[in-house]
Amino acid sequence: MPGYDTSELVCLRCRDERTRCFLNAVSGRPYARCVKIRRLAKEGTMTESTNEFETDDIIEEPAVVAPHTIDRRGFLRGVGATALLGSLAALGGCAPAAQKEPANAEAVAEPLSVDGTEDCDIVIVGAGGSGLAAAVEASEAGARVICVEREAAAGGGEAGVEGIFAVGSRMQEQEGVTNLSTGALIRRELEAAQQRVNGPRYVDMVHNSGENVNWLLDHGVTFMSVDADNGTEKVFHRFEDDKGAVGYVPHMLKAAEDAGVDFRYNTLAKQIVMTDGKATGVIVIDEGGKSIQINASSVIVATGGFAEDFEMVSKNDINTEDAVYVGMPGHDATAHNMLIAAGAKDYTQNTAYLMALAVRGLPGYFEGGKFSFLIGVAAPYSIWINENAERFVNENFSQVNAMLMTVPTWPNKKTHILMDQAMLDIYMNGEQSAVDQLNDGLASGEVLKADTVEALAQAMGVDATALADTVERYNSYCAAKDDADYGKEAEFLMDFGTAPYYGFHVTPDVQVAIGSIQTDRNFNAITDAGDSIEGLYVVGVEGAMLWSNIYTINIAGGANANNVNSGRMAAKHALSRL
Ligand SMILES: Cc1cc2nc3c(=O)[nH]c(=O)nc-3n(C[C@H](O)[C@H](O)[C@H](O)COP(=O)(O)OP(=O)(O)OC[C@H]3O[C@@H](n4cnc5c(N)ncnc54)[C@H](O)[C@@H]3O)c2cc1C
Repeated sequence: MPGYDTSELVCLRCRDERTRCFLNAVSGRPYARCVKIRRLAKEGTMTESTNEFETDDIIEEPAVVAPHTIDRRGFLRGVGATALLGSLAALGGCAPAAQKEPANAEAVAEPLSVDGTEDCDIVIVGAGGSGLAAAVEASEAGARVICVEREAAAGGGEAGVEGIFAVGSRMQEQEGVTNLSTGALIRRELEAAQQRVNGPRYVDMVHNSGENVNWLLDHGVTFMSVDADNGTEKVFHRFEDDKGAVGYVPHMLKAAEDAGVDFRYNTLAKQIVMTDGKATGVIVIDEGGKSIQINASSVIVATGGFAEDFEMVSKNDINTEDAVYVGMPGHDATAHNMLIAAGAKDYTQNTAYLMALAVRGLPGYFEGGKFSFLIGVAAPYSIWINENAERFVNENFSQVNAMLMTVPTWPNKKTHILMDQAMLDIYMNGEQSAVDQLNDGLASGEVLKADTVEALAQAMGVDATALADTVERYNSYCAAKDDADYGKEAEFLMDFGTAPYYGFHVTPDVQVAIGSIQTDRNFNAITDAGDSIEGLYVVGVEGAMLWSNIYTINIAGGANANNVNSGRMAAKHALSRL
């Protein structure tokens, strides 16, 4: 297993613990994009003296590929008719009417010359959760599979995944969990989504889930428990060590390698080869910078979404100005754009997000942060204000779903969470690490502290009169035990009046964009007209249509259940075409 050593799970550079620095659990080596290192570097607090390692020790992002000279003969050889039409039209400044303009149109439309070709039965793009499931399914059935992965090792976002949803698994049988109603689970999820998601896709995912987890068990995937996670039913199958980097990725990678899958790391897929409206391969830039066309009867794209591309994210009306990407590397919009250029239908108007609130500069969700992630759900007695010093929500709203936490803040220019000393004392609960983090926040200026409401307003840069009005109004609701504006439960209505006062400037930590391309029930990409694109499959979160704008996590581990299910279903369908 190249680049994968589970005995060394500590980032050698930031020396963080594996539970807090899972990016490096994948490589076991210092990683240029370790969350902590990136944050320190951004803040300018990582200096030469704290960096004990030479830069050579750091695995850099895949080298920027030198622009290819447009070689018309190579280009004609390399791409099929549909791609050619689109590319030539784009060169002439006149894209075909049916073709959408991808966000990064130039990069996609650039026709790629080809330095060489290879053949296989099925080519898979992405060696994360869904790509590995597809690779194992296809290769064990005898297909010749090439799996290209842009990063130096397999894993993707799956390395950080805690577990997977299932009903009817052997683990549940052993625990005596046998009375779950699949219909009730699906109904609840569809109702939570206001019926704006794909019903049949839920039926497939839920009904296949037990067999899928049994299949994972048969392939050596290791779990530590089946529990309810943040829900009410015991459906969450928790990976060993609470992360896919330990429980899922190494075992599925080994199964795929044992079955003969040819993994190509540091290899970026750039263009789908289209021939007579069918996908017949993919053009990749390999480790050495060569452009290779891999011909196959089917292409399965398992690329994990575009959350790293904030231009795309901001199209969902999310103010990304102060946001930070904290997901795994390798999730820009290259794959999305490549699929749109191949004629696939856009789903980004419905993209849902795995996203949390954070106080910039303080330890984040994966680093045991007291004021990041938790602050959105664990301080319902606080007051949330926007840049106009207005409340805008019942501060207890995200109790029903932690993934709602950032949603009402999306359009805000600035969001502050306010606590007075009495509230903060409850929140800190006497924890020394919380005190340390608070002091760091005060020192960096992301947490403001003042003895009066007026001074706090000035420190936060909001109108002092407006804030005084908001506080007065809120305190009157506390006295009346009735939040006349947002209906916050009386038990969380706490008078804001014990100085000093604190304002926590919170911004989104963006982890995963879920849903970017529309697919049919076999996970074939579809065109704008709704027709399936033969030979082209989009699986995992890139092709997920189970969420529409909101990541409803009532079915704990549902995204990962979809990763495995979509990977397997697409592989089976691709096998039927051989
Ligand atoms: C920290 C974290 C925790 C999560 N926890 C859970 C959980 O507990 N339960 C749950 O259900 N879901 C969870 N999710 C959500 C979701 O299940 C994961 O994001 C999961 O990794 C998605 O699987 P995937 O196969 O779609 O993408 P990934 O696992 O991210 O794999 C995509 C792969 O494709 C590669 N790639 C991308 N573009 C290209 C390209 N152009 N060429 C070649 N390779 C490319 C990437 O480098 C990556 O390795 C979590 C996500 C994160 C980030």
